Amino acid sequence: MLRASGKPGRDCPRCPRLVAFRDAWREKEPEWFNAPVPSFGPIEARLLIVGLAPGLRGANRTGRPFTGDYAGDLLYATLKDFGFAQGIYEARPDDGFMLIDCRITNAVRCVPPENKPTPQEVTACRDFLCQTIAEMPKLRAIVALGRVAHETVVRARSARRADHPFSHGSVRAMGETVLFDSYHCSRYNTNTGVLTPQMFRDVFAKVRAHLNASEHVIAGEKPTDA
Ligand code: URA
Repeated sequence: MLRASGKPGRDCPRCPRLVAFRDAWREKEPEWFNAPVPSFGPIEARLLIVGLAPGLRGANRTGRPFTGDYAGDLLYATLKDFGFAQGIYEARPDDGFMLIDCRITNAVRCVPPENKPTPQEVTACRDFLCQTIAEMPKLRAIVALGRVAHETVVRARSARRADHPFSHGSVRAMGETVLFDSYHCSRYNTNTGVLTPQMFRDVFAKVRAHLNASEHVIAGEKPTDA
């Protein structure tokens, strides 16, 4: 059953494998966060970014998505460039870095061994994603980082995965929101050139253009270049 808050508690028991991993790291590193990592950013944001899961020595240590993870360097720099963040990202949860009109969550809230959640764990954690989406009154755009995030978002929107395959750079309407797909900004993907910083920027350029255009629609105006 979902807790009244709709958020996983520190000792969320849903995934036995992740609980065992979390407990082991609580023993080894008692100063680390070692718990389900909460979403970061304002609930009133129009953009939600869905990552995969906390990295062991990054978000699982610091308690903030992508913070201290290699993937956070490209993500936060790109968000800042497109006006979705302000401040200086210093890979610490108390660095004062702020998200603007943007929120970040993960498909799976607890750190998985070897960065690989099982399909059962993704399913078990989906309630929390649904709750995160439901509590955002102004949500207009979702960026899915990688196939796992994409598929859980599709299921969270009650759509069929077979009808909506993951494809980097794709843009598709999903209910009242638009889903943008990107390859995950992981160390592996960036080091192998699967995802270049420019490819990542291109995704956020589309997101920014979409939000600018929907602002005009909401205000009942025509976009100036229409
Ligand atoms: N850190 C996160 O919080 N999420 C990811 O998907 C990767 C690193």
